[in-house]
Amino acid sequence: MDCWRVLHKGGGPISFRVGRAVVGGEEPLVIAGPCSVENPDMILETAATLKQILVDRLGFSNVILRGGAWKPRTSPYSFQGHGEKALEWLREAGDKTGLPVMTEVMDPRDVGTAAEYVDAIWVGARNMQNTPLLKELAKAGKPVFLKRHFGSTINEWLCSAEYLLADGLEEVALIERGIRCINEYARFSLDITVVPVVKEVSRLPIIVDVSHPAGRRSLVPWLARAALAAGAHGIMVEVHPRPDEALSDAKQQLDFRMFETMVKELREMGLL
Ligand code: PEP
Ligand code: MN
Repeated sequence: MDCWRVLHKGGGPISFRVGRAVVGGEEPLVIAGPCSVENPDMILETAATLKQILVDRLGFSNVILRGGAWKPRTSPYSFQGHGEKALEWLREAGDKTGLPVMTEVMDPRDVGTAAEYVDAIWVGARNMQNTPLLKELAKAGKPVFLKRHFGSTINEWLCSAEYLLADGLEEVALIERGIRCINEYARFSLDITVVPVVKEVSRLPIIVDVSHPAGRRSLVPWLARAALAAGAHGIMVEVHPRPDEALSDAKQQLDFRMFETMVKELREMGLL
């Protein structure tokens, strides 16, 4: 079935709130924070610095703090995340800074726990077609950001979104995060095409994760420019106080200086 035929028939583009942030509105959204919530200090330091850079210095407040609690790792020997403890630390960082917070859930059994702590949940690329998870999220009542699997067509992605929408959840957004192509210089190939396509065929906001396709930090600001210039409703970007020491995705996370330079440039270009 072509899901863009059934997806939210009629009506205009969808927009919704996550705490103070607006998703799918006029102003682009910035979802920023570390790949993983590693300890209470690093997530609070990240939240406080992001607030300083964006809200206090640039006057930009459409922001959500991200942080992984359960991590989908390729190797079972890699850091798997701190689970519920990480959610407590993330919530505390959000409360102390006023930033709304979001995390990834992989297991349907964790949806209820996550919903107690965070303002929104994202579904990672590897779980785009985890239908028990999607059905559980549809009932949880929290806004959901659905990442595209790196081997999925747009229709398959929209059909997964339909699982969320079919049960009456309206606060759903899509995140493009790169697909597998013949590109050995970056981690994935960012499919910019989907930005205008999604806007044409669905009513859902489209955000672009500019970190996971890049795989290394020097590429990230360029992908952010491309995403916003193509009309994305926002970007997701991994930021860490000391990226080289990060327990996951060390090479692609921006430090605070790089993040500030990037967002300043985006502001100057009128993209943010
Ligand atoms: C992440 O956002 O930390 C992540 C694991 O992303 P993806 O699911 O897109 O690989
Ligand atoms: Mn990551």
